[in-house]
Amino acid sequence: MVKVVLEKDIERDVLQGKKIAILGYGSQGHAHAQNLRDNGHDVIIGLRQGKSFEKAKEDGFTVLPVADAVSLAEVVMVLMPDEVQPKVYEENIKPNLKSGAALVFAHGFNIHYGQVKPPADVDVFLVAPKGPGHIVRRTFTEGAGVPALYAIHQDVTGEAKDLALSYAKGIGAARAGVLKTTFKEETETDLFGEQAVLCGGLSQLVKTGFEVLTEAGYQPEAAYFEVLHEMKLIVDLMYEGGLAYMRYSISDTAQWGDFVSGPRVINNETKERMKEVLADIQSGKFAKDWILENQVNRPQFNAINNREKEHPIEQVGRDLRALMPFIQKPEQEKEQEVKQ
Ligand code: NDP
Ligand code: MG
Ligand code: MG
Repeated sequence: MVKVVLEKDIERDVLQGKKIAILGYGSQGHAHAQNLRDNGHDVIIGLRQGKSFEKAKEDGFTVLPVADAVSLAEVVMVLMPDEVQPKVYEENIKPNLKSGAALVFAHGFNIHYGQVKPPADVDVFLVAPKGPGHIVRRTFTEGAGVPALYAIHQDVTGEAKDLALSYAKGIGAARAGVLKTTFKEETETDLFGEQAVLCGGLSQLVKTGFEVLTEAGYQPEAAYFEVLHEMKLIVDLMYEGGLAYMRYSISDTAQWGDFVSGPRVINNETKERMKEVLADIQSGKFAKDWILENQVNRPQFNAINNREKEHPIEQVGRDLRALMPFIQKPEQEKEQEVKQ
């Protein structure tokens, strides 16, 4: 097995005493900022005026315009959406970066696809948690962590690796394991994972299963429990002990069904489609399409997003989750309730 770095392996806490600017206070931003602060680091937030600006202030942080935060910081972590980073970088980050500072990302997209071109006198690396921001925060408060990858693009100070590991420890990732990678590998595997398996593959699998059951006349509530609610319970077992532990816990009937029917649904043809998805990521086609979609204000993204929200599985899901107060409500639904 390759070397997975843990907290005990990280001896030099070179982040200590350095001013860290976290740019953005969304999913990853709030988690990095709060975890680093809880670990005794000196954190300020860089943001435009708006919703997160107020939120970060309420949470007790010093919040400054992006340009000001960058000009004060030795470590600048860019946690704005990938598609806005190039513009904010040109206008507010680049002109204010201190020589010898570290420019840090949580995903390799903009460096790998050449959308951000850093100056030669700064360190550039990534520390990419392999989990959603809200879970990065939640696991940290529970004494655990979400694993992360790190990669060095540019090391002018000779300290980039120590800084990356120290940062990973600061956000709690070294409690779970930190793995060395490259910008290319992180970018391409992250995009493939979210498209083919974690987000795209999974939501399509769930939705299609729901449609097959309801179109055959079964109750939507029963279908929801079967293909969406129970997904977490099954995945929790995989998280704890891999596929074998999940199969140990399910009935032998379910395990036999897994063996004979799984490969009928996800088959060689699906594998070929996955390879096409990977090829589009590797060639830059996916990146180009997404950059262009943003340049024309996301007509396709918005149309699909609106349609997806109206899918019957979402409607029945809202009603059923309302009956289960032990399920934490997602931030987004809370916000919608506030607006109404
Ligand atoms: P979010 O969409 O959650 O972050 C939005 C934040 O950026 C908000 O605070 C928003 O402020 C701010 N912002 C948006 N536009 C601007 C702007 N023009 N100027 C200043 N601030 C702005 O991002 P994520 O946390 O999802 O992603 C951040 C990075 O982390 C990305 O590189 C992503 O690939 C990576 N990543 C994300 C993961 C995740 O779990 N989401 C997982 C691993 C990596 P406002 O309220 O004003 O809009
Ligand atoms: Mg990811
Ligand atoms: Mg991603």
